[in-house]
Amino acid sequence: MISVSEALQAVCAESRPRPAEQAEDIASDVDSPPHDKALVDGYAVQSADVSNPPVLLKILEQVTAGEVPQYAVRAGTATRIMTGAPIPDGADVVVMVEDTEVLEAGAAVRIQRTVGPGANLLRQGVSMRRGDRVLSAGCQLRPMEIGLLAEVGRASVRVRPSPRLAVLATGDELVDCATRPGAGQIRNSNGPMLVALAQQAGAVPTDLGVARDNEPDLRRHIQLGLQSDVLVLSGGVSAGVLDLTPRVLADLGVHCVFHKVNLKPGKPLWFGVRRDASSSCLVFGLPGNPVSSLVCFELFVRPAIAKLKEQTPEPALRRGVLAADFRQKGDRLVYHPAVIRDEHSGAEITLLSWKGSSDLRTLVDANALAIFPPGDRQYRAGETIDVHLLAP
Ligand code: AMP
Ligand code: MG
Repeated sequence: MISVSEALQAVCAESRPRPAEQAEDIASDVDSPPHDKALVDGYAVQSADVSNPPVLLKILEQVTAGEVPQYAVRAGTATRIMTGAPIPDGADVVVMVEDTEVLEAGAAVRIQRTVGPGANLLRQGVSMRRGDRVLSAGCQLRPMEIGLLAEVGRASVRVRPSPRLAVLATGDELVDCATRPGAGQIRNSNGPMLVALAQQAGAVPTDLGVARDNEPDLRRHIQLGLQSDVLVLSGGVSAGVLDLTPRVLADLGVHCVFHKVNLKPGKPLWFGVRRDASSSCLVFGLPGNPVSSLVCFELFVRPAIAKLKEQTPEPALRRGVLAADFRQKGDRLVYHPAVIRDEHSGAEITLLSWKGSSDLRTLVDANALAIFPPGDRQYRAGETIDVHLLAP
């Protein structure tokens, strides 16, 4: 059985981003700012006029943002100007309105304070020049990139599509969320949870519903799922008589990279790849229990999605001190649902008393998974340990 870090390495090695050729560099079609512009409300003047205040200047006109000055500013004159408005020719400084006083029924202004040349204005094109490349193909479009695209007039751009991820639950016992389970049945909670996780991780999910535990139905559903960049299955990868998934995957040409990881919960994890000339699909067979599914998604599927998006997968690790004693047993690496909170003394970790890997009810209280290395050991309150943060 391989370790979590070996498994993660194998997953990352197989997660190759699609070529960015569809994406494009973006050039600006404007100067920014598009004109010399006022940064404050005040008066555009010649700096030589205001070097020795107070001084009385004749007001030529008023220019607000969106208007264009009609007159050039000359010695002895000033233009009333608002933030964002173009600076009139001849002016090289803006005096803030707070440092002025209007006189002669609005015909003149007294400047009370001196300001150096260039004060309170921004020169045309200092942020970017028309023709400058402002975004590179492959960069991530965060809110500020979207704003910049709008500034340079790009309502639509060619991008590398986000990875498509299909979610398929397996199990004869599963019924849809809208159905009341009959005897022996449970609702399919993994399907909606994995769709939500995929969305949160930046993939575009499709919910393929439930495949029953027989080869024809599994085969039909899996064939559909293999058209995506990633197929996430839940259930059917343990050692039960109806755990048929690995066999069906092999029949459909999915090459098994590993099966079983030294991890708790999540040991039965199956990972494989199908590649042909034009496409490839990463296939994760997650254990059916919801907490195991979630842990495996966090540890392996989320980093794979990041790599497909050409982002650097960052494990969300934090350290903190245990709030209470804890006895750890067993030979697997453990991820235990926990709450990490900031106290005066630092980050404190409370382990949740979970009832095993089907216990979603307890998992909703968790914001982290506390990490315990394999081996029997008594942990003491106050000891420092690592946690893997769950995305909010
Ligand atoms: P399996 O991995 O198929 O052996 O399933 C392990 C456990 O997880 C069983 O108790 C299943 O009933 C449960 N399980 C499997 N799939 C789901 C699912 N989609 N939602 C909730 N529980 C599931
Ligand atoms: Mg099953």
